[in-house]
Amino acid sequence: MDQNCIFCKIIAGDIPSTKVYEDEDMLAFRDINPQAKVHVLVVPKSHFAALAEMDAAQAELVKKCLVKIPAIAESLGLKNGYRLIVNQGEDAGQTVHHLHIHIIGRESMGEKML
Ligand code: AMP
Ligand code: ZN
Repeated sequence: MDQNCIFCKIIAGDIPSTKVYEDEDMLAFRDINPQAKVHVLVVPKSHFAALAEMDAAQAELVKKCLVKIPAIAESLGLKNGYRLIVNQGEDAGQTVHHLHIHIIGRESMGEKML
């Protein structure tokens, strides 16, 4: 746990969140400032800021997150698809330096940048 990390505090229960899924490896909760009708963050329960700082054990946790995301998305009603985003660093606009995967959906996103 990083004492200065807001997502570590959410994982520890020190800051409230609207949880949508939790197990021993990850927590999924609703983004406080949603950018779509459904906007959920999936965070591994091990603190590291970005992919470049990830060790092998943490990579296993990210893999577990990715394996679980289809079920989480289904539970959120995202039958027609969704978008996953992982912002890395300043140029990507990363504001919370604990790796997290955005799940965004419930509206057609059309052909935007990606
Ligand atoms: P990023 O720009 O990829 O670092 O995304 C960080 C996300 O965390 C933003 O979409 C914020 O709205 C979200 N966020 C920040 N604080 C909280 C919080 N306390 N609970 C839920 N989401 C949060
Ligand atoms: Zn953290």
